[in-house]
Amino acid sequence: MGVLTTQPLDRLLDYKAPEGGCHLGAFVEVPLGPRKVLGVVWGPGKGDYDLAKIRSVIRVLDVAPMREEMRAFLTRAAEYTLTPMPAMLRLGTRAPGLGDAQSMRKVYRLGDQTPDRMTGAREKVLGVLRDYGGLSFTLSEVAEMAGVGTSVVKGLVKLGAVSEEEAPRDTPYPQLDPDYGGKDLSVDQAAGAEALRAALRSDGYGTTLLKGVTGSGKTEVYLEAVAECLRMGRQALVLLPEIALSGEFINRVEARFGMKPAEWHSGVTMTERRRCWRMVGQGDAQLIVGARSALFLPYQNLGLIVVDEEHDTSYKQEDGVLYNARDMAVLRAAINGAQVVLASATPSLESWANVEAGKYQRLELTARFGAAVMPKMAAIDMRVEDVPGGTWVSPTLRGAIQQRLEKGEQSLIFLNRRGYAPITLCRACGHQIGCDHCDARMVEHRFLKRLMCHQCGETKPMPTQCPSCEAEDRLSAVGPGVERMGEEVAALFPDARIAVLSSDLYGSARAMKAHIEEIATGGTDIIIGTQLVAKGHNFPLLTLVGVIDADLGLQGSDLRAAERTFQLMRQVAGRAGRGDTPGQALLQTYQPEHAVIRAILAGDEESFWKAEAEERKAAGVPPYGRMAGIILSSPNVQEVFDLGAEMARMDAPLRQIGAQVFGPAPAPIARVRGRHRVRLLVKAEKSAPLQQALAKWAGQFRLPANLRMAIDIDPQSFY
Ligand code: ADP
Ligand code: ZN
Repeated sequence: MGVLTTQPLDRLLDYKAPEGGCHLGAFVEVPLGPRKVLGVVWGPGKGDYDLAKIRSVIRVLDVAPMREEMRAFLTRAAEYTLTPMPAMLRLGTRAPGLGDAQSMRKVYRLGDQTPDRMTGAREKVLGVLRDYGGLSFTLSEVAEMAGVGTSVVKGLVKLGAVSEEEAPRDTPYPQLDPDYGGKDLSVDQAAGAEALRAALRSDGYGTTLLKGVTGSGKTEVYLEAVAECLRMGRQALVLLPEIALSGEFINRVEARFGMKPAEWHSGVTMTERRRCWRMVGQGDAQLIVGARSALFLPYQNLGLIVVDEEHDTSYKQEDGVLYNARDMAVLRAAINGAQVVLASATPSLESWANVEAGKYQRLELTARFGAAVMPKMAAIDMRVEDVPGGTWVSPTLRGAIQQRLEKGEQSLIFLNRRGYAPITLCRACGHQIGCDHCDARMVEHRFLKRLMCHQCGETKPMPTQCPSCEAEDRLSAVGPGVERMGEEVAALFPDARIAVLSSDLYGSARAMKAHIEEIATGGTDIIIGTQLVAKGHNFPLLTLVGVIDADLGLQGSDLRAAERTFQLMRQVAGRAGRGDTPGQALLQTYQPEHAVIRAILAGDEESFWKAEAEERKAAGVPPYGRMAGIILSSPNVQEVFDLGAEMARMDAPLRQIGAQVFGPAPAPIARVRGRHRVRLLVKAEKSAPLQQALAKWAGQFRLPANLRMAIDIDPQSFY
C-alpha cells in the first residue's frame, strides 16, 4: 500500500500492510532508512518496487483514520498553493504525542464504603464528591475543592470510601447548550441570524459575508449560527485573527453556551493541544476557537466555519506553507458541505467582489447596537498645525484629549509603529544604523534598551559611538514609535494614566490579555497603541481616537495600500463610542484632499469599493486577475540573480496560458537573515490555469544547493 509521510519526498512509499490489514487514511509508523516516521495510508501501492525489499508498517497508531474529506482538503490545498504533500500533511498532524498511546491518569470519585472514624477533613472530601454526584476528579482537584491535603484523599481511598480509577488523560470538552444564553436580537440582527440558520439547515456548502460596523452585533449574530450548527450535531470552528482576542471571545462563548469551547492556537499548552486534536477527531469538541491552523484539525463533522475580521492580513501565513486561511476555509467548507461566515466591518475587496459576482451571500447589519453610533470623523490638516520638531501631537488633538480627561473618558492615540524610533541617525556623519543581516534599519526599543531588526528579530545594545565614523554621543532618534509617543503624551498630560499597547512589550500572550482587560475596565486614561488595538478589542469607555499619521499606509507601492489604509482607519475609528457616549476620530494628515483620506472621512464605503474595484480591473490585478510571487533567496547573490534571469527567459509554460513574468528584481528588502532575495511576479487572467503553468515552469530549473524558491499564490505582501 502507498503511504504518505511527512518527510520531504516527492512520492508515496510502498509498505506491506500490518497483520490484520489497515484502513485507508490510517495513521501509521513506518521504517524509513534507520528511522521511524509518521505517515498516513494514502492509497494502493505503486507496485513498481521489488516486493522482496518492501518493508512492513511498524504499527497503526491509536487514533481515528484520516477522513476522506480531510485527505481531499489537503490534496486540493496543496494543488492550490503549490505545496508538496508532505508539508501539507505536517499541517494536518501538528498534534503533540500523536503516536503515543492514550495516556492515562488516576481519577477519584465517591466509593461505596463509609469510614469508621470520620474527621472534619474526611467529611469535607466526601461532601464535595457527593455534591458532584458520580463525577470524578484528579487528586489535586479533589484536595483543592475540599480544602484539604492530598493525603486525606489517599487515606479515604485505602478505606474504600473514595474510589481510584485509571481514565484517559484527554477528556471530552463539556457539552455546550445552544439555548443557554441567547440575547434578544434587534430586527436587523434577527433577520441576519435567521438567514444564517436557514443556510445551515440546507446542509450544503455556502459562504455568507456578514458585514456591519464594529459594535453592530456581528458576533451575536454568528453565535446564533453556531447555536444552530450545534443543534444539528455538527462541529463549528471560529477563526480569530489575533490570539489576544481569544480571552474576551471565550468569555462570550461561555455566556452564550454555558461552557467554554476548545481552543487551538500558539498560546495553548501542549497537553491541551493534544486533547483538542483528539477530541475534535472523535467528535467530543463541538466548538473550536482558534488561529488559522485550526483549519487542519481532523473534524468529524464540520458544519460551520466563521472567519472573524476576514479582511485581516494575519490570515495569510507568510512562512512555511503560504496559504490564506480565509480562502482555505472556503475550500474546506466546500469539501465538507459546510457553511462559511466571513465577518467584517471592512471586508476585503476579494470578498466584496465575490458578493458582486453572486458567489457569496451578503448580510448587512446597518446600525450599532443600542445607543452607540459610529464616531464622527474629521481630518487635522498638519500643514497648518503648529507642531514643534521632535513631537507629533497637534494642538487640535491635544485639546480634544484634554476634554476627554476632564470628562473622565478614555482616548486612544494610534500609531502603527512599534518601538521608540524607526531610525537611529548619527548627527556627525549621517549614518543610519542598519541590521547586519538584512537591508533594514534597526528600530530603537527603549523599553528593551536595545536596537531591533523588525525583519529578522536580531537585537543589539544601543551603541554610544557611531559604528561608521566613531563619533561619541551623536546618535539620535528620528521619527516616532509608540514608545516615544508615550513619552510625549506623558509630558503633555503629566497627571494622566497612560498605557502603551504594543505586542512586543509583553512577555506572554497571557500578560497582554490581562493588560488589555485592565485597560478596558478603566485602568487607563490614554491608550497609545499599534495595530494591535485596532483588532476588535472592546473598550467601552473610549470616546476619542487620534491617528498620529493617517498617511503612513498610503506610501509604498503595495496594490492594496488604499484598501488597507481604508480598512485600518475605519477599524481604529470604530474603537471609539461603543458605550452610550458618541465617539470622535481625528486623523492627522498632510494630504487631507487625498482620495482615500476623503473616502475614509465621508464613510462612503460603497463608492470607495467601486472606485477601487475599477482601478484593479483596469490594472488586471487581484481580485480581477491572478498573481503569484516567486521569491528566490540564497546567501550567494550571483546565484539568485542568475536563476531569476533564467526563469524570466524560459517563460514558455507561462506564455502558453497568456501569463506574463515581471522581474527579476531585488526584493524591496533585498537581504533578510543574510540571504539575498530576488522577486519575480507572474500575472495572469482570472480564468487562466495558473498553478499548472507555474508548476511546469518552475519544474524546469535545478536549484543550487543553498537556494530556496518560494511560490506565493495570491501574494498579500511584497517585501
Ligand atoms: P461586532 O461583532 O459587530 O463588533 P458585537 O457582537 O461584539 O458586535 O456587539 C457589540 C456589543 O453589543 C457587545 O457587547 C454585544 O454583547 C452587545 N450586543 C449586540 N447585540 C446585542 C443584543 N441583541 N442584545 C444585547 N447586547 C447586544
Ligand atoms: Zn535583520
